[in-house]
Formats: sequence, structure tokens, C-alpha cells
Amino acid sequence: MHEQLEGTVVAITGASSGIGAATAEHLAAHGARVVLGARRGDRLEEVVGRIAASGGDAIGVVVDVTRREDLARLVGAAVERHGRLDVLVSNAGTMAISPFDDLRQDDWDAMVATNLTGVLNGIGAALPVFRRQRSGQFVHVASTAAYVVKVPQGVYAATKTAVKVLTEGLRQESGPDLRVTLVSPGFTDTEGVGKGASPAAAAALDRQRREVAMPPSAVASAVGYAIAQPAGVDISEVVVRPTAQG
Ligand code: NDP
Repeated sequence: MHEQLEGTVVAITGASSGIGAATAEHLAAHGARVVLGARRGDRLEEVVGRIAASGGDAIGVVVDVTRREDLARLVGAAVERHGRLDVLVSNAGTMAISPFDDLRQDDWDAMVATNLTGVLNGIGAALPVFRRQRSGQFVHVASTAAYVVKVPQGVYAATKTAVKVLTEGLRQESGPDLRVTLVSPGFTDTEGVGKGASPAAAAALDRQRREVAMPPSAVASAVGYAIAQPAGVDISEVVVRPTAQG
């Protein structure tokens, strides 16, 4: 049990499946009070139901992270219910990977809007709250793709690299009251792997998912570790990958 997680108020985007859902369940199991955001209300309610059945404290808010006002509602729901927000985990993302020659420009736009603008919208919503409280933590979920680009992941890797860079910039501006953490997972076994990707990319990703991937609970533990640090200590950057990943 991480004692520092007890009572901590954590909002998590992309919490209806995969890494976000696992993170919500992990943190709630250690006593955090979690506020879950995603677009699919039915899937959110399943996660909220599992947490509640285990004695945890969770609510779900239907949000689309590409919309500023939705992030404001997510943060507002946490403040309204608990009187504060301690951590915002910006995890929502899409991996619609394809070669440039396919010209899937709608997918490019969606990856930028969700993976990059979605994180900025989280900062816009939570930073004023954190400044008012004189405490708070941003946890941004990037990817090992922020460190090395592989074919055909150019656009996806660009969004994750941008998140890595803006997170470091935010950390440098944040001052002594705030913590800013980048968590970069490697291959993780979730429904998001290959979703919306071109057929060849999806087949390759699915094979790697079966052969290489780690469970989403591995990423959840890393997020929990970063949040559980004592005040004044910031785990700025974590890369968590399966040992089988090259
Ligand atoms: P999932 O597809 O399981 O999870 C993605 C989550 O993001 C879902 O809850 C989805 O919910 C949500 N989401 C997507 N678009 C939006 C949106 N516009 N607004 C709100 N929520 C949204 O995949 P993962 O768990 O694997 O992905 C989570 C994060 O981890 C992503 O940022 C991904 O890039 C990153 N990552 C994943 C890796 C992997 O190998 N799986 C490796 C490295 C990084 P809904 O559809 O209900 O909105």
C-alpha cells in the first residue's frame, strides 16, 4: 500500500480501457479517489463499477479531450466532489498508425487533436486549480515512440515527442509547488494497439502485442510510484517497457 496515495484526488483521461482503466483501478486500490474521463460512457461505468465493488471511490465523466470545455468539466467534477484536484493524468490517446503514402490525413488530425491538443487542454484546465492550491501534479502519458521513431509511426511519434518536450517545458516553468511527470510506456497489451491502423501496420502491431507486450498494470504501477513520492520530490521521467522490446 502506498500511504501517500490515500485520499489523493486523481483525474485520469482515457480511463475507459487499457492503461487509463488499469491506472484508475491501481490508484483506487491504494486509496486514491479517482475521477475517470473518456468518451464511451458505458465502458467508463464498467470501470467505475469494478472500483466501487472493491470499495474504492470513483466517478466517471464523459469527456472528449479534444474539447477544452470537456477538460474543464472533468477538473470541475473533481473539485466539486472532493474540494481539490491533486493529480491530472493525461493518458487519452489514439494510435491510428499508417504509412505517409496512405495520406490518412483525418487520422493525422485526430492523433494531433487527441494526443497533443488533449494534453494541452488538460494543462489549461488544471493549471489554474493547481496554482490556486499551491500544489498539484501533471502526469503525461507519452510513449517510447517519443524516444525513437519506427516505420510507419511518424505522425504518432511526432505527437508523443511533442508531449515529451512540452512536459519538460512545463516542468521548468512550474516552480516548487507543482510536480510534472512524463511516463513513457513501451508495448502494452491493450485494445488500443492497432486500432484504426492501416491493415499491414495493424497486423504487425497485433503480432508484437501478442509476443512482446507487458500488461497495462505495469504502467499503472509506474504512475502510482510517481504520484506516491513525498512532497518536494518529482519523478520527472519514467520509461517502462517490456524486457522483450528491442
Ligand atoms: P486504449 O485504446 O485502451 O485507451 C485509450 C483511451 O483513450 C481510451 O480510454 C479511450 O476512450 C481514450 N480516448 C481516445 N480518444 C479520446 C478522446 N478524444 N477523448 C477522451 N478519451 C479518448 O489504449 P492504451 O491504453 O494503450 O492507450 C493509452 C495511452 O497510452 C495512449 O496515449 C497511448 O498512446 C499510450 N501508449 C500506449 C502503448 C501501448 O502499447 N498500448 C505504448 C505507448 C503509449 P474512449 O474511446 O472511450 O474515449
